[in-house]
Amino acid sequence: MNNRIILHVDVNNAFLSWTAVDMLKKGSKIDIRTHYAIIGGDETQRRGIVLAKSNPCKQKGVKTAETIRDARRKCPYLEVYKPNFNVYRHYSNLMYHYLLQYTDKIERYSIDECFLDYTNSQKLFGDPIKIAYKIKNDIYQKFGFTVNVGIGKNKLCAKMASDFSKPNKVHTLFPEEIKTKMWPLDVSELFMIGKSTSKKLHDLNIDTIEKLANTDKNELIKRFKTSGKLMWEYANGIDNSEVESNYSNPKSISSSTVLPYNYSNIEEIYKVIKELVIDTGKRLRKNNQYASVVHVSIKYSNFTKISKQIKLENNINTDEELYKETLKIFNKLWNEEPIRSIAIGVSSLSTTNNVQLSIFNQNKSKENDKHLQKTIDSIRDKYGNNLITYANTSQINERINLKGYKKDEE
Ligand SMILES: [Mg+2]
Repeated sequence: MNNRIILHVDVNNAFLSWTAVDMLKKGSKIDIRTHYAIIGGDETQRRGIVLAKSNPCKQKGVKTAETIRDARRKCPYLEVYKPNFNVYRHYSNLMYHYLLQYTDKIERYSIDECFLDYTNSQKLFGDPIKIAYKIKNDIYQKFGFTVNVGIGKNKLCAKMASDFSKPNKVHTLFPEEIKTKMWPLDVSELFMIGKSTSKKLHDLNIDTIEKLANTDKNELIKRFKTSGKLMWEYANGIDNSEVESNYSNPKSISSSTVLPYNYSNIEEIYKVIKELVIDTGKRLRKNNQYASVVHVSIKYSNFTKISKQIKLENNINTDEELYKETLKIFNKLWNEEPIRSIAIGVSSLSTTNNVQLSIFNQNKSKENDKHLQKTIDSIRDKYGNNLITYANTSQINERINLKGYKKDEE
């Protein structure tokens, strides 16, 4: 029988609470968690959307992923704060390093979620429920933001449990609790069931997780292929996947993000990729390193994952070079289905830039780029990544001809 104990730690309203905590730490007198505040994109651009919202906004009906314009209609006093991935990464790391004391079998599932395999830690730290409360309270006291902790015998149940009611709560979902705690929920609440699948299931009159669990598995496989099998298993609380601890490999640098909703708009996706490139590039240059392997991985909304890496002839480390190579891979990889998370990374790191000296002119511009990049990095260090976004004139996009890129590739 399965004796595993898995914890799922999930930051409540991560982007907004981390921003709030960061502002307070920097001397702000207001806690934006109690204001009509959102984290959102650029409002002057029509596509600016709500990435996260405070509870007061939620009560006014503001929804994640709607446009800021629509949000403002519901909530005229809206305060909009820009996303800052550096801040998020900082608090995410604080939490991760705190959690490492309980086990090194931790999977950073997203920037604000970790799975812990607590199975072998029980002997050392005791009852998982007690520890879950300690984790929740410690994180709040040490870092100032709240989390939910879910406990189960596998990742699926731990994750479902952490979602039950929020914020600042501990929930369990043990096998004997599945029927009472999980089965009454709407199918849309089940891990991995997206909007369109949920609608299809409702059309089939499968509206609760209980009904899904009691549907013939083969019927579901016929209709939904492999995800049919998976959804049946999940509905029955079955999940044998391991907690995949991702110890950061010093020989590679990567950045990833789980998107606030499933993205299929290419411009929005490129924007995210750019953020990730800036983040990776900055860390690369901080170590005075160059990379010759670039790697991209995409997780679709149905949880299938694909990745690809390429080996370059030159070692690179500017944002522009990284962005260009990353897009090349991305454009080959993406099948235009909605994306849930993206990771990009570099490896095969060295401290030299082995540009071929023969192409004199190119080298000269490379030197200039390097110089420009250094200046940009130092400004970003001082004022944050958002100040220089390349967005005004889309400098990067223009220079490498973003739109043309896709067509050039086979
Ligand atoms: Mg969260």
